[in-house]
Amino acid sequence: MSIFKQMESNVQCYANSFPVTFNRAKGAYLYDNEGNAYLDFLAGAGSLNYGHNQDELKQALVDYIMQDGVAHGLDMHTDAKAAFMQTLQDVILKPRGLDYKVQFTGPTGANAVEAALKLARKVTGRTNVISFTNGFHGVTLGAVSATGNQHHRGGASIPLSGVTRMPYCGYYGYNADTLKMLDKQLSDPSSGIDAPAAFIVETVQGEGGLNVATPEWLLGLQNLAKKHGALLIVDDIQAGCGRTGKFFSFEEAGLKPDIVTLSKSLSGFGLPLAIVLFKPELDEWAPGEHNGTFRGNNHAFITAKTALETYWADQEFEKEIQQKAELVHSYFQSVVDELGVTHARLKGRGLMQGIEFRTGDIADSITSRAFEKGLIIETAGNQGQVVKCFCPLTIETQDLEKGLKIVVEAIAEEFNTSLKMAS
Ligand code: PLP
Repeated sequence: MSIFKQMESNVQCYANSFPVTFNRAKGAYLYDNEGNAYLDFLAGAGSLNYGHNQDELKQALVDYIMQDGVAHGLDMHTDAKAAFMQTLQDVILKPRGLDYKVQFTGPTGANAVEAALKLARKVTGRTNVISFTNGFHGVTLGAVSATGNQHHRGGASIPLSGVTRMPYCGYYGYNADTLKMLDKQLSDPSSGIDAPAAFIVETVQGEGGLNVATPEWLLGLQNLAKKHGALLIVDDIQAGCGRTGKFFSFEEAGLKPDIVTLSKSLSGFGLPLAIVLFKPELDEWAPGEHNGTFRGNNHAFITAKTALETYWADQEFEKEIQQKAELVHSYFQSVVDELGVTHARLKGRGLMQGIEFRTGDIADSITSRAFEKGLIIETAGNQGQVVKCFCPLTIETQDLEKGLKIVVEAIAEEFNTSLKMAS
């Protein structure tokens, strides 16, 4: 019996879908300990947007370690932290006209969400938070209260409170005006909805099935937040760091959220790092009021700074993502055209696209077939019915096409049909 079967809790899950043992990774590839190569369209669930062991990031980290640079710094000042913050300001925030303070939280996405919710409640003096159907914000108690998925909510084993769920953009079809509903409920003192401290929203719902909020809906939500005295929190943990084409996923809609959460690909190297960005006037924290031992992952600061400099100092990377997104779109569109919309629907935007099938079983069978052909790809959605392409943003075009062809072949096998390839 393997050590994994013997010792590891049943809570482990990805290895059930990909039952091999990996020992090396480079770029868009993972390698198992028998030397087999797998194209990685899961990319650490979005934490490896620049691929595995990216050369510049690795070199910067190795150099820093060899100089005995501070590895763990609590929240004390270090050169590595200063350099990361300066780069974040110069390369990301200033050019986008964003004036934010930075809070370093514990290193996971859920840590950032907890801090964002806490701050919004503290600043507004309100407890209720509006989150949206199919939203996913993590599984710690505060974050899972804002998460829709019953499987994750069930794991809490206590009543989850302090959150009211509202329909996400398109939940009742794109013709239903869900913002009007929300406005009416928040305006009616007898609707039963307590005045919210915040709206927490993903611009594209990653785990929820690549549901896309339109720019109009997001702008409308921002206006509603203002009207009702709530703060707008954009959870950009999965959709941010370039995944939808721009550094922040809300740039397309021209939002200026009050609070933004970032984690996953922020370090760029798969190292744990999370931050909350918020408007300066919201900084009502007292020193140490919200803390955590691992807020000073200096190795992550080094790779994060290098990633920002390497990829975001000009517009080239955005163009590259756009081109790759179009390629994914053309492959997936041709599948949808051939299978018909009763069997398959296109989901997502940028390099956050997928195909929705009728059931989770179909999607699972497709990802299993893809794995047999050397591709790691996962599902998302309320029934796990969306096959979700999450390749590194830096993937070589030929590898992207190779992976997309595997997806198309796996779908063709599943439907027992032949499908034309896009290009
Ligand atoms: N928020 C979003 C949008 C996410 O997609 C995730 C994780 O997938 C989280 C929060 C939680 O992040 P973590 O798993 O690092 O706690």
